[in-house]
Amino acid sequence: MTARVLDGRALAKEVYAEVARAVAERLALGKSRPKLATVLIGDDPASATYVELKQRNAKSVGIESEDHRLAASITTEELLALIDRLNRDDTVSGILIQQPAPKQVDMRRVIFALDPAKDIDGFHPINAGLVALGLPGGMEPCTPAGIVLLLERSGVALEGASAVVVGRSNLVGKPAALLLLKRNATVTLCHSRTKDLARHTRSADILVSAAGRANLIGKDMVKPGAAVVDVSTNWIDGRQVGDLGPGVDEVAGWLTPNPGGVGPMTRAMLIKNTFEAEARRRPD
Ligand code: NAP
Repeated sequence: MTARVLDGRALAKEVYAEVARAVAERLALGKSRPKLATVLIGDDPASATYVELKQRNAKSVGIESEDHRLAASITTEELLALIDRLNRDDTVSGILIQQPAPKQVDMRRVIFALDPAKDIDGFHPINAGLVALGLPGGMEPCTPAGIVLLLERSGVALEGASAVVVGRSNLVGKPAALLLLKRNATVTLCHSRTKDLARHTRSADILVSAAGRANLIGKDMVKPGAAVVDVSTNWIDGRQVGDLGPGVDEVAGWLTPNPGGVGPMTRAMLIKNTFEAEARRRPD
């Protein structure tokens, strides 16, 4: 079997087009233009590139952006002062703090200080809590939300499916499991202490791997016809690879390319969340 592609690049383009239409409709009704505030700390070139890319994505759909660059030596208090200013600024829809932040910055305090309504990454405990409780109004974190949208729009049946998520981080694995559960999948969450990982993965109609371990998932660990989402970004000899070993594409029914699967969806969901943050906060 040769797996069908879960094409994150193509779907991300659709998401941008949908957000662009929604922004245009908002403006035509005389409503406010959404604005993304990005916060970049230090001068790491990779982080700077990610921020520029997110600003470009925002601009392409008609979302304004505002750039805040801070010295690598910044204190937690200084960053909190900026967050407080952005929280109070009614023209700012969403706040993105590019991570990783320098070690001296207490990111837990910073995330707790974000206005949950502007927390477009979905990291604030209010948003994480609403998602965990399955209640409306929470901001869904971008990577898990992107995974679920990619499966849904590709026509993978989630309801009643057996879904196995490998990795239980608060960033990816745990919220991905919760969002799949919300779509009525039967979910198993695996991690580094799981006994006999293969027994679990082989039972999966939907397998999401976010362990950050190259070659963790061999083709003998995949159920024939399963939808396999390879979230991880591992670097081997300067090349991006995920968690899948060779030959998984011969067994899986659906497969994300890596790169070109989850990454583009994550960025698109950030832009979608920025729009939604503005639409919820300023409906009129
Ligand atoms: P993380 O915080 O390091 O979590 C990794 C998880 O995998 C942990 O729960 C860990 O278990 C589990 N794990 C590690 N080795 C395992 C093994 N041998 N068997 C089973 N489980 C194992 O990483 P993360 O932030 O969730 O990110 C996961 C990967 O996704 C990384 O490669 C990251 O770069 C990538 N990522 C990609 C995107 C994207 O947009 N494409 C976005 C976010 C992250 P324990 O909890 O027991 O330690």
